[in-house]
Amino acid sequence: MAMTHVNGRDGGGATGPDAGAPRRITILGSTGSIGCNTIDLIERHPGAFEVEALTARGNVKLLAEQAIRLRPQLAVVADPAKYDELKRALSGTNIAVAAGPEALVEAAQRPADWVMSAIVGAAGLKATLAAVNRGACVALANKESLVCAGDLMTHAVRRNKATLLPVDSEHNAIFQCFESDRRSSIEKLILTASGGPFRTRPRAELKNVTPKQAVAHPNWEMGAKISVDSATMMNKGLEVIEAHHLFAMPESRIDVVVHPQSIIHSMVAYEDGSVLAQLGTPDMRTPIAYTLAWPRRMPSPSARLDLAKVGTLTFETPDTERFPALRLARQALRDGGTAPTILNAANEVAVYSFLDGKIGFLDITAVVEDTLAAMPAEEMTDLEQLHGVDAEARAVAQRCAVAAAGRR
Ligand code: NAD
Ligand code: MG
Repeated sequence: MAMTHVNGRDGGGATGPDAGAPRRITILGSTGSIGCNTIDLIERHPGAFEVEALTARGNVKLLAEQAIRLRPQLAVVADPAKYDELKRALSGTNIAVAAGPEALVEAAQRPADWVMSAIVGAAGLKATLAAVNRGACVALANKESLVCAGDLMTHAVRRNKATLLPVDSEHNAIFQCFESDRRSSIEKLILTASGGPFRTRPRAELKNVTPKQAVAHPNWEMGAKISVDSATMMNKGLEVIEAHHLFAMPESRIDVVVHPQSIIHSMVAYEDGSVLAQLGTPDMRTPIAYTLAWPRRMPSPSARLDLAKVGTLTFETPDTERFPALRLARQALRDGGTAPTILNAANEVAVYSFLDGKIGFLDITAVVEDTLAAMPAEEMTDLEQLHGVDAEARAVAQRCAVAAAGRR
């Protein structure tokens, strides 16, 4: 077994590439960056996969195109106002159509062996949990749901003998280097960070950077929200929390090192001084392929790594003065309970306020800090409480964002 903490079974290894029966899969968030990369891999392996359900928020055109090519049983659009449009686009096919947030949960509950959780934000939590609760093998890209629900999610994984396979490149790298049978010999997890588009900018210049500049990541092509998170380095903060839950490691044993080339995707350090790393060109199809084929491997078209051509790999200590988000996320993890839920909700509100041009780049982290200061963390008890805390944090963050906008 690759990972003892969250893996309850062998992940339905009797299906998938080269295994006889096709693996039945569902993609939550099929129209996004991770969703499209997943579909690209599936289409390169005819016969290895059958699609149970596809879901999207509102991009009916792309969802319908994907559905017509992949022939799922069900296509879901989260925006209820788009139901008729999707129904029309898929008329004459025998693909069932549904809309609304409950339909996302229904999609996740359908009997797929493998579910890609690639909705962005805590909006993906209910559907991801629905897949976990029926014991599915869940490829987790949607880090916000794990950050937000933490122990509730990992308990549900264990209780239902579900499997969480990390898609996030860093966690996928650690997963590949993590010797579960020698877990007690592991000293540290070392997450690499690209440093984002503003790695070398002085803090004074960060005040006026635009959303366009912030989403232009130097190495990875990703959705807007995670691109902004990479620019503030909140992404790495969320990933420290994600690593804590996936690998049952305390915050003090999760290091972060800035590595601008994004070739080493992360590392595991052992007590004998060995450090195991996973390397590759920055292309999400590598970690996605790893989860799609798991416990086997399958070919991916990612560009091959030519180290001589790369020439130099460099490393730096993260600068938490210019990028305080990492410090805030670590503090939230140490505070525990609902602190990470508050951090995540406030960050989502702040990132979209920035993308909408309402607040400045430096205000993103300030809004998160103000929200955390205004809302004491509580012990996390159940999902209902979690949804309440998430909603309250969004309301508080909204007020903090309005105040920040007023100060501009
Ligand atoms: P994206 O914005 O490109 O796509 C998001 C997908 O979720 C789309 O299909 C969209 O329709 C759907 N969606 C958005 N809001 C929704 C809602 N309220 N209800 C239902 N569906 C909704 O994002 P992405 O870059 O593909 O990232 C997806 C997740 O994967 C994020 O959690 C991100 O942090 C994580 N991730 C992404 C990358 C990457 O390279 N893109 C890498 C690591 C982790
Ligand atoms: Mg990552």
